[in-house]
Amino acid sequence: MWGEKSLMSIRRALPYVVGLRCTLCGAEYRVGEVEYVCPRHGDRGNLDVIYDYDLLRRRLSPEQLSFQRDPSIGRYAPLLPIASVASLPLLPVGGTPFFQLTRLGRAIGMPHLYAKDDGRNPTASLKDRASAVGVARARELGHTLITGASTGNAAASLAGQTAAAGMEAVIFVPEGAPPAKIAQLLAYGAKVIAVQGNYDAAYDLCLQATHTFGWYNRNTGYNPYLSEGKKTVAYEICEQYTALQQSGRAVSLSPADNDRILRRWQAPDWIVVPVGDGCIIGGVGKGWRDLIALGWIETSPHILGVQAQGSSAIYNAWRSGGEAIERVHAQTIADSIAVDQPRDPVKALRAVRESNGAMVQVSDEAILTALRRLGQEGAIFAEPAAAATLAGLQVALQEGVIQSHESVVLLITGNGLKDIAAARKAVGQPYSLPPTVEALRELVQREGWVEG
Ligand SMILES: *Cc1c(COP(=O)(O)O)cnc(C)c1O
Ligand SMILES: [Zn+2]
Repeated sequence: MWGEKSLMSIRRALPYVVGLRCTLCGAEYRVGEVEYVCPRHGDRGNLDVIYDYDLLRRRLSPEQLSFQRDPSIGRYAPLLPIASVASLPLLPVGGTPFFQLTRLGRAIGMPHLYAKDDGRNPTASLKDRASAVGVARARELGHTLITGASTGNAAASLAGQTAAAGMEAVIFVPEGAPPAKIAQLLAYGAKVIAVQGNYDAAYDLCLQATHTFGWYNRNTGYNPYLSEGKKTVAYEICEQYTALQQSGRAVSLSPADNDRILRRWQAPDWIVVPVGDGCIIGGVGKGWRDLIALGWIETSPHILGVQAQGSSAIYNAWRSGGEAIERVHAQTIADSIAVDQPRDPVKALRAVRESNGAMVQVSDEAILTALRRLGQEGAIFAEPAAAATLAGLQVALQEGVIQSHESVVLLITGNGLKDIAAARKAVGQPYSLPPTVEALRELVQREGWVEG
């Protein structure tokens, strides 16, 4: 597909990447030697991208980043497995809003509650971070076509990012996929193949297409470069959290303080992450590990992983203290975290354990209540999987895992417009009224609406 010569130049072009390491056996590979998984372990041998942190430390600093004008993930280019920032699609990914949830925090007794709203990415989910890096990598290898299997946000973001880059996307979906999501894929011009079978059948056919036609593959838990995109959300959280703390006490900054802040970032105590395949949470864990290796933060924030009760394969493994995954028959309203057989469990469990974090599971009922509360008291319209973070935080508070004085960031992974059916279940129906002021007055009195 690409000759030995271009392989050499790609290797040279990633000066900060040392290689790829298998999460199961620790075997190391050079960039380009292996593109996806550890050959010894097949689909289970997910790889980690490793960097030359000494070199990075000399070339990059929090201070420099504070002068960087690009708010998108391109600002962290040396920490990404790309040769050139120009390879990223021109569809700004990342740089999403980070803000304090003052009202909601007060209501649940948490004075330091924050949101990172990744539903405000170009295709409305965190998956854009992974797709952008996947597309950049494919481009640098000379591919013009990328394939993926998914019914949801991963596919939508791949379709959007390839549209931006002028590349082709071939997406495999199970024939029963929700029509709205297929519409989003087609709107971005992806070639969509409805496979006569379930998600696993679509995934397998996509893998075969990769082997048969040599197409580039953007599948979670298979392509190691995807979690490299996802980790950027961890960088942004620290950078934005630091900026927020700084602006809160801007007047009293002494030069010594200033120096400390520019050399280091502050990190919140906890980040709450919804978990399906485990790729996002693994990416967040990788982000913290990078920052610690660089000396930019001192300790890792604790990671709280949240799964739906009806789709809790990784939670079950965490509870048992092991790494063995037992397949479940996933059943939850939060479709983005409905997974029978998680594809990235090793990285997920490692992220939770390394951070001295925890996992919880939440009911669909709690997810819908959280969706409503996030909207009403946090002004965030989240899709169910993202709303699960608030439900999970409440369980962790009850169990004493998180203390109410600690600082907590809810990772809002997807926008509520992605799943209108679920939102309607959570929030009910509007009032139906004839167009007369009499009827309106009657309603206002019945409901007791008074201003002020
Ligand atoms: C994909 C996704 C998740 C779960 O991510 P995994 O990597 O599968 O664990 C959570 N929320 C949203 C909105 C997603 O799209
Ligand atoms: Zn291996």
